[in-house]
Amino acid sequence: MAPERETQETLSNLLREDRRFEPPADLAAAANVTAEAYEEAARDRLGFWERAAERLTWAQRWDTTLDWQPPFAKWFVNGKLNVAYNCVDRHVEAGNGDKVAYHWEGEPGDSRTITYADLQKEVSKAANALTELGVGKGDRVAIYMPMIPELPVSLLACARIGAIHSVVFGGFSATALRSRIDDADAKLVITADGGYRRGAPSALKPTVDEAVKDCESVEHVLVVRRTGQDVEQNERDVWWHDVVERQSDQHTPEPHDAEDPLYILYTSGTTGKPKGILHTTGGYLTQASWTHHAVFDLKPETDIYWCTADIGWVTGHSYIVYGPLANGATSVIYEGTPDTPHRGRFWEIVQKYKVTILYTAPTAIRTFMKWGDDIPAKFDMSSLRVLGSVGEPINPEAYVWYRQHIGAGRTPVVDTWWQTETGAIMISPLPGITAAKPGAAMQPLPGIVADVIDDQAQSVPNGGGGFLVVREPWPSMLRTIWGDDQRYIDTYWSRFDGFYFPGDGAKKDEDGDLWLLGRVDDVMLVSGHNISTTEVESALVSHPKVAEAAVVGATDPVTTQAIVSFVILRGAADEGADIAKELRDHVAKTLGPIAKPRQILIVPELPKTRSGKIMRRLLRDVAENRSIGDVTTLADSSVMNLIAEKLPSAASED
Ligand code: ATP
Ligand code: MG
Repeated sequence: MAPERETQETLSNLLREDRRFEPPADLAAAANVTAEAYEEAARDRLGFWERAAERLTWAQRWDTTLDWQPPFAKWFVNGKLNVAYNCVDRHVEAGNGDKVAYHWEGEPGDSRTITYADLQKEVSKAANALTELGVGKGDRVAIYMPMIPELPVSLLACARIGAIHSVVFGGFSATALRSRIDDADAKLVITADGGYRRGAPSALKPTVDEAVKDCESVEHVLVVRRTGQDVEQNERDVWWHDVVERQSDQHTPEPHDAEDPLYILYTSGTTGKPKGILHTTGGYLTQASWTHHAVFDLKPETDIYWCTADIGWVTGHSYIVYGPLANGATSVIYEGTPDTPHRGRFWEIVQKYKVTILYTAPTAIRTFMKWGDDIPAKFDMSSLRVLGSVGEPINPEAYVWYRQHIGAGRTPVVDTWWQTETGAIMISPLPGITAAKPGAAMQPLPGIVADVIDDQAQSVPNGGGGFLVVREPWPSMLRTIWGDDQRYIDTYWSRFDGFYFPGDGAKKDEDGDLWLLGRVDDVMLVSGHNISTTEVESALVSHPKVAEAAVVGATDPVTTQAIVSFVILRGAADEGADIAKELRDHVAKTLGPIAKPRQILIVPELPKTRSGKIMRRLLRDVAENRSIGDVTTLADSSVMNLIAEKLPSAASED
């Protein structure tokens, strides 16, 4: 893949998008953050982050803002704070104990309202229980739970006593859970009998039983009763209602060092090899809190905020638990799936709680598009004022649909780029400032210095594409990979000297705004052009018959690689004999003939991780007739059989 000519582009820029959405005037006039923030941070980046840190309550102020020994950063050196105190107690002390922290909605329709005063009591009891179970500062606690209130309570209880939590998403297998317990050497596992998913109780405890069998590090398994399913009682097991409920609801939070670990979280596994990302307290909470305030324009007095992610992913850590609570927000938490008991469940929840800010993922948005516009149209969603997207590049068509059919054409949509590793949002429009373009993450936030560079590490000009990098350390950056500094250096800091390399491709458009183009490992080399999967997928999704698309490059004797597309049609669209030709021509017309797919396969489903992201490397295996690689992080492995069945019709066209 070495460039033949010096001027060869690193990544093509094919997609043109001329739509713009100005911020609504009333939102702009009252926005939490104004354009001055960009100038302020550009003048004095560390000063900017100091002011963001001052939004928190510190037991002891730091003496040095940043100690940077590349690639190891320490932020707010010698500062002391308690994360749980910042998220809970200080709001009660400020007189907001009666304010709702969480409106919790169970899948079967049960609900709970938890105020900040309730949360303070619950977290204190849980912290006392952890201490009684022998968990102390620095110990690791694995958490494998459904989306019930005891989940954020568990995170905060760990944070309060300085134990390090490692949340493992409740959809993972016993093997995946065990490897994460072992990697962190966890002393305690917190779980539940089960949770509700798709209208039925879904057991969790048997998976934990299997995972901890013969596992020496685990001393206790703390079990919440949620579904009432039968559970095996093992010697190490203790019930939450026995151990936590009888504790005192008073607990004094000790200050911890700004660089004490807060949590380990394994990445979602799109590339197949999850990494144990380590986050610490002071810098992490500073950026999670500031970005939540700025990017969603959160007004704690009036907003009802709902992030639909699972707390098992970083989005849930930063934008259901730490960011919103640090800001004193009122949030919604929903336990179940969007199609239970009907496909309008999300919109019913928006209507019920008068949600004002909604944060979800492109995979969900594309599913809602597939289900049809008539479903959200049945609900009153006039309370919504800001919409957010995270997890994958959002195709312009999906963005416009989201704005139109969920946001009634009024609400700004913020496309937020970040990763488990970055801890908090890095690149995003600001809803009161940015004239957003559908599909673009736009600009690095104030205080973040990101760029797009070519393979010679030179900044690309506007109109050019290449590798996204972050040039300066940021407060919520990962500190290392748990127990493996060398892997941290190799994975993120070795490709370009002195820059953090997240693994994503991006382009700068003519105005210098940033567009994320997918993982660089997925970039296709076609007749000397590096073509991004995202642009071809977005072109396919812009065809009215297409609901979802994934493209990969497959080895081709003539063009090096050829584009193979896997397409899911919209509900009403029928396959028709000419659909492949129609779609290929549509891509050629939208992006140019170079991007015309060699093959189009109409498939019923796409392989996705448990967080809903498309796993292109498995599709590449299919397209190149290889045996399918590591599927352990795949949500549903039967999908690959459904796709393989489609293969006979995959003979190359043209
Ligand atoms: P693994 O690192 O194990 O392969 P993962 O990268 O999917 O898993 P996450 O940290 O959850 O795990 O995801 C971060 C990645 O998701 C980013 O690197 C990027 O590829 C993608 N992403 C997230 N938000 C956006 C966005 N707004 N636009 C484009 N891509 C995004
Ligand atoms: Mg990643």
